[in-house]
Amino acid sequence: MKRKRNKHRSPWIYTTFSIAILTLVIIGATLIFLSMKNEAAIATEKKKSTAPPPTTIKTIESKYPGIQIVNESSNDPATPFKIQYPKSIHNSFNTMIAEYIEVLKQTYFDALAEKAQGSDTSPSELTSSFEIFPHHSSNYSFVFETTTFVKDSKETSIQSFQLNTETGKSIAIQDVFEYDEERLKVLSNTVRTKLFEDTALSETITSDQATLHTEPLWENFKNFALTDEEIVFHFEKSTIASDKVSVTISLDELDDILATNFKVVKKENVPEEPTKNGLTDKDIMNQQTETAKNQTDQPTKTDELQVALTFDDGPDPKVTMDILETLEKYSAKATFFMLGSQVEKFPEIAKNVSDAGHELANHSWSHPDLRKLNIEGIKDEILNTTEVIESATGSKVTGGFRPPYGAFNDTVRAQTDMPIILWDVDTLDWQHRNPNQLLTHVKNQTRDRSIILMHDIHQSTADGLDAVLSFLKDEGYTFVTISELD
Ligand code: ZN
Repeated sequence: MKRKRNKHRSPWIYTTFSIAILTLVIIGATLIFLSMKNEAAIATEKKKSTAPPPTTIKTIESKYPGIQIVNESSNDPATPFKIQYPKSIHNSFNTMIAEYIEVLKQTYFDALAEKAQGSDTSPSELTSSFEIFPHHSSNYSFVFETTTFVKDSKETSIQSFQLNTETGKSIAIQDVFEYDEERLKVLSNTVRTKLFEDTALSETITSDQATLHTEPLWENFKNFALTDEEIVFHFEKSTIASDKVSVTISLDELDDILATNFKVVKKENVPEEPTKNGLTDKDIMNQQTETAKNQTDQPTKTDELQVALTFDDGPDPKVTMDILETLEKYSAKATFFMLGSQVEKFPEIAKNVSDAGHELANHSWSHPDLRKLNIEGIKDEILNTTEVIESATGSKVTGGFRPPYGAFNDTVRAQTDMPIILWDVDTLDWQHRNPNQLLTHVKNQTRDRSIILMHDIHQSTADGLDAVLSFLKDEGYTFVTISELD
């Protein structure tokens, strides 16, 4: 009986429940739909107003034909990075670089993910930049330096790539020494000797490790940069010393074992940047007395320690911009001795230098040894440069004139009213291309009212500048421009 009555009531219960469930589903779906729509609206709003685009990619021309510089950066606070890499007209090279960059990024992202759980909140960052070294065989060496900060741990790495811009091929170190094991042994010995002779390294080098990583194996010498004058080998941090190390060997020294393509081409009467050390002793004497005179003639006006930072041979689209960033970090003003030919190529970079409040100065149009030009030639070099700087920047050249190589005579001097500005601290940055050595030279030579010579065309100078500024600031120096120097 009971059972039967229940059976009779069940269709009603069933219908009531069904209606209730259906109503709930409709209400639920409406709510979900509305909230999704709202979220989407908020996200769009955020994108429009506050959030910067996560990644920006900017490609500029380098000063080397056929090579572009790609600047890729992300402001995403969770995964910020700043990467620079070259792009050529050769696909195989571009692919190789793209793969390398992809690995750098992926390794960084993975490390970030792994450490995400920790309580450490220090900022993370990946920065990678490179420098280009040309060789007369149409080969370019690209040396990458990468620094990764993931929470509290810092990693650095070095990697070189080679590209022959004519053929699109990449050489290996074996090509430079004709795949000859005997030559490799000579190379190994030469590098080792250089390492153990370098007094700057004597404190940090681990002799067992240095020996191990200079064994005659091609692999040990794979990171290299080749120029017409020298070959530089890079060794990663913690391989042969606690820090990274580079060893520079003049090609003259290796001429007997070099493959034909890479033998030194004897130059006649071509004054170029690396022949700066080709100045005669008399020239150097002149320079030194000139600088010494400048320093002792004038009475000290203030008690504060002053130092003038000067950068030559720019502007350069990449290195100059990096240097401006570091100078800004320390609110330091510097003087830029620009080449007219570079300003003509990169007027907007010159403008950036000027807009950032730095002093503009003249370093000739094409960097010749002015003593070898006639009066007309000297005048052109100087006047055209002042003109192009002032028209590119809208500001005056007030930092004076610095003759290329510091080389001048009475005829050169008579062609301008600008003061001739030399230097007393030579960082030799163009020679060693080593960020750490930049600081070593500054530490050893800088005193009150020093003029420090650097070049805003070498990535290593931009990379070493932060440490230099930090050191000078701690020593109590004020950064002044040439015209501000007491
Ligand atoms: Zn120069």
